[in-house]
Amino acid sequence: MRGRGDRLEAELAEKGLDRMLVTDLTNVRYLTGFTGTNGAAICGPGVRIFLTDFRYTERAAAEVSEWECVTLTGDWLGGIAERLSGKVGFEDDHVSVRSLTKLEEKLGDSVEAVPAGGAVEALRRVKDAEELAAIAEAAKLADAALKQTVENGFRGKTEREVADYFEAKVRGFGGTLSFDTIVAAGPNGAQPHAEPGPREIREGELIVFDMGAKLDGYCSDGTRTYATGDPGEEGRRVYETVLAAQQAALDAIRPGVTGEDVDQAARKVIEDAGHGEHFGHGLGHGVGLDIHEGPRLSLRSDDVLAVNEVVTVEPGIYLAGDLGVRIEDLVVITDDGLRNLSSLPKDLTYVD
Ligand code: ZN
Ligand code: ZN
Repeated sequence: MRGRGDRLEAELAEKGLDRMLVTDLTNVRYLTGFTGTNGAAICGPGVRIFLTDFRYTERAAAEVSEWECVTLTGDWLGGIAERLSGKVGFEDDHVSVRSLTKLEEKLGDSVEAVPAGGAVEALRRVKDAEELAAIAEAAKLADAALKQTVENGFRGKTEREVADYFEAKVRGFGGTLSFDTIVAAGPNGAQPHAEPGPREIREGELIVFDMGAKLDGYCSDGTRTYATGDPGEEGRRVYETVLAAQQAALDAIRPGVTGEDVDQAARKVIEDAGHGEHFGHGLGHGVGLDIHEGPRLSLRSDDVLAVNEVVTVEPGIYLAGDLGVRIEDLVVITDDGLRNLSSLPKDLTYVD
């Protein structure tokens, strides 16, 4: 967590804030390292205060360094309020109106609460070395689990059975899931967010496999589409188009381009193949403590990519009632382009 409070402090100076009250638990974890379910952080020039209740005193002592740990007993909001002064940024995107009203009742007249939601999320976009290592490890673990799942075969098993096998492998390797695994065979593949069901996987189908592991709080995200035998001419053509679109996007990624630029690079390949209307979602998203965070890669994203941001690149083509193909890599933006954290092959792979 070294230096994260300093980065927030610099951000506050820029926004003209004296203090920031951080109450979103993921943001609290990011800043302080605390993994419990009740905590808040107050940051300001030379001020680093972490607050929790008696249940977490010991955990805070073990996990939180560089922040003064305070255990509040009794009046939680009162204990926070008495440590705030001047212009105080709060996370208006996470705090309920009710808690804000209650907090404001406790604040002295000299304190002004200012909406500052998104400040910590903006810092979280750029990962430090520790975070990059955790995400890379999570991706490696998930890929190893998927590799074994593929070796175990798909045909004759239900989507749910295949997903269960993968998820057991992830846990066996010491990870947890970063989201519910998607295994979508044949026509089910046409739904980008299909849930694995009781349908048996047959010969000659395309199977969309979207999966991720979580390690030390950090997520991975990746998709491969496999075939149980020849998926037919249309299936092969759609696969090649998605693969070419994905490569075009990867080639377009470098610091300074926008999320829209990268999305456009992939979308053009898909549109040129006549499938523009079959690619109904954005190209990708940031990944970190949350499975979906900034920056966004989409037609409406003016996010400018920066070194050490981690994003997915996941174009897809979905033909309703017929088939779907999605290919997703997890990449780190580098000075001269990207480093790909996804290791599994992307040529159409046939699975038993
Ligand atoms: Zn995914
Ligand atoms: Zn994704």
